[in-house]
Amino acid sequence: MIIVMEPHAIPVQIEQVCKKLEEKGFQFHLSRGVERTIIGAIGQRTPSTMELFETLPGVEKVVPIAQPFKMASREFKPEDTVIQVGQQTVGGGQIQIIAGPCAVEGRSKYLEVAQAVKEAGATMLRGGAFKPRTSPYSFQGLEHEGLEILAEARELTGLPVVTEIMDPRLVDEVASYVDILQVGARNMQNFFLLRELGKAQRPVLLKRGPSATIEEWIMAAEYIISSGNDQVIMCERGIRSFENYTRNTLDLSAVPLIKQLTHLPIIVDPSHGTGKWKLVEPMALAAVGAGADGVMVEVHQNPSEALSDGPQSLTPENFARMVKRVRSMVMALLAAEEN
Ligand code: PEP
Ligand code: MN
Repeated sequence: MIIVMEPHAIPVQIEQVCKKLEEKGFQFHLSRGVERTIIGAIGQRTPSTMELFETLPGVEKVVPIAQPFKMASREFKPEDTVIQVGQQTVGGGQIQIIAGPCAVEGRSKYLEVAQAVKEAGATMLRGGAFKPRTSPYSFQGLEHEGLEILAEARELTGLPVVTEIMDPRLVDEVASYVDILQVGARNMQNFFLLRELGKAQRPVLLKRGPSATIEEWIMAAEYIISSGNDQVIMCERGIRSFENYTRNTLDLSAVPLIKQLTHLPIIVDPSHGTGKWKLVEPMALAAVGAGADGVMVEVHQNPSEALSDGPQSLTPENFARMVKRVRSMVMALLAAEEN
């Protein structure tokens, strides 16, 4: 439920409501606006608890949260969540460009591409050490060695690193090497993993499942947040449809929808979203135009020899061109807002 305080509610009245919420076993979040304070509360709500809170001094009204997701919802927390990653933020107006190969394939190759994407303007690095492959015979990633390489690239470039985590038992270990933990599309409803990530001290990049509805995807975020970690970044990466020209159908309407329904930042992955490198730049521009907080793209120095996802990987040169165009788009949007 949402407890809306009167515009002139004084601090002791707000404290009193919070104390009562604690007593009744509610989790809550305070949103202090210019006009008034709103308190989002999660717990066993009955008509009589709602009445009880309505009688407290300073309370204007109590309204139930209409959505099945609570802590992720805009109603619960009206202001945007801004996630600090090193010196940078995800959300809050910055546009993140996360780049790197699908998989970490070897030390020198990874360090080389990491430097190249940094020079071209990437703000964070990506690279899979544990790869969720459809076939058990495909390259599965360098695993622990891959994590060491990612940490070295982070040291070398000074850029934060994002990598996928598949095994709930490895959360602490993977979190000790990288800055953001990625939940891959195939694991979006791995509820044990989501719960473990709720205890992690790292932001989580939550990819949309290949056949997940927007509501199912937000409910997955709700698992992480309600388990204790509110640092969730949504990532649209395309959903499965009847269309075969593209690997997935990139659902860019998810961007404004996630912004309306939740307070979480969202980035778009046009590489997995299309499966075709020639579509990556136009879809990255469209994503930023739709209001995304950034993009994540795959870059390989030699896509034809990539161990995974070569057809959707940009060369460093094409990536540099994409960054320039995305940055110009951001400037144009900012200029339009100022006018
Ligand atoms: C990835 O980002 O490397 C990946 C495997 O993506 P997805 O989970 O979206 O398929
Ligand atoms: Mn990939």
